[in-house]
Amino acid sequence: MIDLRSDTLTKPTESMRAAMARAEVGDDVYAEDPTVLELEDRVAAMFGHEAALFTPTGSMANVLAVASVVEAGQEVLCESSAHIARAELGAHGAFTGLTMRTWTAPRGQVDLAAIEAMFAPDMGPFFVPTAAISIENTHNFAGGAVLPYDDLRALRAWADEVGTRVHLDGARIWNAHVATGTSFADYGRVADVMAVCLSKGLGAPVGSLMVGAAEAIAQARVRRKRMGGGMRQVGILAAAGLHALDHHVERLAEDHAHARLLAEAIGVDPADVDTNIVVVDRDDATAFVAAAAEEGVRIATVGPRTVRLVTHLDVTRSDAERAAVVLSRLAGR
Ligand SMILES: *Cc1c(COP(=O)(O)O)cnc(C)c1O
Repeated sequence: MIDLRSDTLTKPTESMRAAMARAEVGDDVYAEDPTVLELEDRVAAMFGHEAALFTPTGSMANVLAVASVVEAGQEVLCESSAHIARAELGAHGAFTGLTMRTWTAPRGQVDLAAIEAMFAPDMGPFFVPTAAISIENTHNFAGGAVLPYDDLRALRAWADEVGTRVHLDGARIWNAHVATGTSFADYGRVADVMAVCLSKGLGAPVGSLMVGAAEAIAQARVRRKRMGGGMRQVGILAAAGLHALDHHVERLAEDHAHARLLAEAIGVDPADVDTNIVVVDRDDATAFVAAAAEEGVRIATVGPRTVRLVTHLDVTRSDAERAAVVLSRLAGR
């Protein structure tokens, strides 16, 4: 089976497991796990922020990050297919008590004109005040699309002008960096607070981080414990993340090349594939997925008529080539 359902399916490599086994550990609720502290410091520094906080999942990192800039009774604006709006099971409403309004843009892009039109300053007892804008880079359900840096810079400038905050869901910011060459520091510069995942293309078994100002991180440390996310000798997992940062970032270029190969096979213009995800609309989505599985290629639907393919660390060049043969035949190409 060649599994292209998600880049979360990767299994830790032998050398990652060895790094995990060697990790120095301590009780992280006491902030005494040296490996977790090293990972948090390293990731904060990469993005030019003061501090970071290790979390079990990207969803928890996003909930903590957004809650650091949006309170109950306020709203966050995001793109309509954003992971925070579609795939976190209402966590932001359920835990934080915020509301969301969305703009819709092709490829999940930042539509500053739409954002400006939706933005609601705090005018007392009339409208839900907008406290933050959330963006996602790369954009998962838009097919791993990269948000162009000029758009991010323009959003940052506008947000400063009107006095609102920017949250960046950077679950796959690593892929954006490899695809564009934009530095992590530049990506960090456009966001007040962000979330990054180690358990996607980087291949760690568990782990994400919230990244932001020291005060926001201190507050999030308390909220993380309240939500049941206070972990103990978790340096074993942080060691996997450190190993991934050392060894699995630049190789994402291979995943991107494999995704373009698969795009061509399935009838998507490879020029439209920025990173490691291919989404394609097909009326026969469910049947297509089933037919591919019969031939040893697992893919998934992410909507009633949308199929998604994701390349990752455990998909080799020859896997990608074999999958391309199967998919192009099934797609009648
Ligand atoms: C996977 C993902 C997350 C976090 O997901 P978890 O499964 O909770 O780790 C957040 N944002 C995006 C864009 C993602 O793809």
